[in-house]
Amino acid sequence: MTHATNTTNITNLTGSATHYLFASDFDQTLSFNDSGSVLTELIGASGFEDKVAGLARTNLVHQGAELAYLLRHDPEFRTVRRKHLIETGHRVRLKGDIPRLVDLLQRGIDGCRFSFYVISAAPQEVIQAALEGIVAPDHIFGTVLEFDDTTGEITSIARVPAGFGKVAVLEEIAAREQIALDRIIYVGDGHSDLHIMLHVNNRDGFTISVSENMRLARVAKRTVLSESAFSVILPVLEQVFGWHSSRIRTLFKSYGLPLQEWELIRTYLVTFGQGPVTETALDTSLIV
Ligand SMILES: [Mg+2]
Repeated sequence: MTHATNTTNITNLTGSATHYLFASDFDQTLSFNDSGSVLTELIGASGFEDKVAGLARTNLVHQGAELAYLLRHDPEFRTVRRKHLIETGHRVRLKGDIPRLVDLLQRGIDGCRFSFYVISAAPQEVIQAALEGIVAPDHIFGTVLEFDDTTGEITSIARVPAGFGKVAVLEEIAAREQIALDRIIYVGDGHSDLHIMLHVNNRDGFTISVSENMRLARVAKRTVLSESAFSVILPVLEQVFGWHSSRIRTLFKSYGLPLQEWELIRTYLVTFGQGPVTETALDTSLIV
């Protein structure tokens, strides 16, 4: 994917600057901990991880949709009201420098403009509360729950952007914003992001993993490990826009983030079996 090509797309036809869709997952991509764990602790429920693992084994729901299922069907989560979801959002520990990332994307890169969206299976209320004042509520696509007007109880689930559900939301946003499918950049951390990353890659978009999840590392075009959300811009500048390292360092410095460490590693997974040695080279990873 390079923005310099003369591909005929909707953005060129309208004569505007090249327009990118920059979409990000929320739990453990923009935050350190999982919304479900924070909510479970808040309401004093038990065994969230075990319940999630149990659901994952049955493949009853898309990976990432476990909390939505528990909110609707687990007796311990029946007490959850909208206020608990908002409080969960306030308690979630965010990764560093999200406002800086949003600011850079708003300013644009090399004359290209970006629309930033969050697509996550975490409840919409949680993400909107966590990113209040940073990301506009209408740029956040989380799980949409419906509540009883009288009791406040969760009565139904209207949408869950998990697994293939994320692809559906992404296509909806790209159509609404009139962004060509090869102008999509997606950042995620877990199994719930596999479908959307494969989809974005297939359409010549750019995908970034921010975790050590090996399955995802095989799919994502780059992996970045950092406590700063701003770090994901590094492979974008390098791979999508072709910036040299000195220019990248200057930009990071202008945002008050002098790159202390920036290590490119290449990981080999070597497995010894009965037959010949199997060697899998993973994509390059960046540790910032
Ligand atoms: Mg996640």
